[in-house]
Amino acid sequence: MKQELLYEGKAKQIYSTANPDEVIIYYKDDATAGNGAKKAQFEDKGRLNSEISRMIYIDLMKNDIKTHLIKSVNEREQLCHKVDIILLEAIVRNIAAGSLVKRIGLEEGKKLNPPILEFCYKEDSFNDPLINDDHAVALGLATHEELDFIRGEMRKINDYLKALWLEVGIDLVDFKIEFGRMKDGTIVLADEISPDTCRLWDSKTGEKLDKDRFRQDMGGVIEAYEEIHRRLKDRT
Ligand code: UDP
Repeated sequence: MKQELLYEGKAKQIYSTANPDEVIIYYKDDATAGNGAKKAQFEDKGRLNSEISRMIYIDLMKNDIKTHLIKSVNEREQLCHKVDIILLEAIVRNIAAGSLVKRIGLEEGKKLNPPILEFCYKEDSFNDPLINDDHAVALGLATHEELDFIRGEMRKINDYLKALWLEVGIDLVDFKIEFGRMKDGTIVLADEISPDTCRLWDSKTGEKLDKDRFRQDMGGVIEAYEEIHRRLKDRT
C-alpha cells in the first residue's frame, strides 16, 4: 500500500511503503520534452508505460539482469526495491538519431556497429551534459569499476532488447537507462524502459513509435504507445 509521497519526477511519483526498503512507483500521464520546456498530458500514457516497462523488465530478469522491480501492484503501479539512483543517464545507440545527429552531424538512420555507449550527467540545471568516466568519478557519481560494470550491463541489455524488439517488428534505435544502488551496494537496473525512453522505429515502414512523435509534434502519440503495448502483449 502507498504511504507518503517521497519524490515526484516528470513522469512518475515514488511512494514509501510499510517496508522501508521498498517503494511504489506510480506512472503519471504527464509528458515533458526539452528539459521540461514542453509539457502535455496523454490519457492512459502512465498505464501503457508501466505495463510496457514491466513486460520488458520481466524479460530482462529472465536473462539474469538484476533490476529494482519486485512486482506490479496494478496497471499503473510497481512495487520496487528502494535504490539510490546513480545520477547518470546511460545511453546506448544502434542507429544515429536525436542529439547525436545534432552534435556531431552523423546522418539520421546511419547504423552504428558497434553500438555507441554514452553517459550524461543527470542534472537538469546543466541540461544533462554528456560526460566521460573521469568526470563521473570526479563528481563522485560512481567508481571506475562501477562504470565498467554498468557498461557491461548496458551491452547485455542492448543485446536482449534489440532481439526482443525485432521479434515484434521494431528496430531499437537508441535508449536511455538508469541504475541504482541497493542497500548492500549492489547496482541494479532502475527507472523505466518505455517509448518515453527508447527510440523505436517500425522495421518495415520506418514509422516512429516513440516520444519523438511528441517532441516533433507529429501527432498520434498515444496511438503509437498503444501499438507498442499491443505488440509486446501479443508476444507473451
Ligand atoms: N532519453 C531519455 N531521457 C532524456 C534524454 C534522452 O529517455 O532525458 C532517451 C531518448 O528517448 C533516446 C535516447 O535517450 O531514446 C537518446 O536521446 P538523445 O541523447 O538523442 O537526446 P534527445 O534527442 O532525446 O534530446
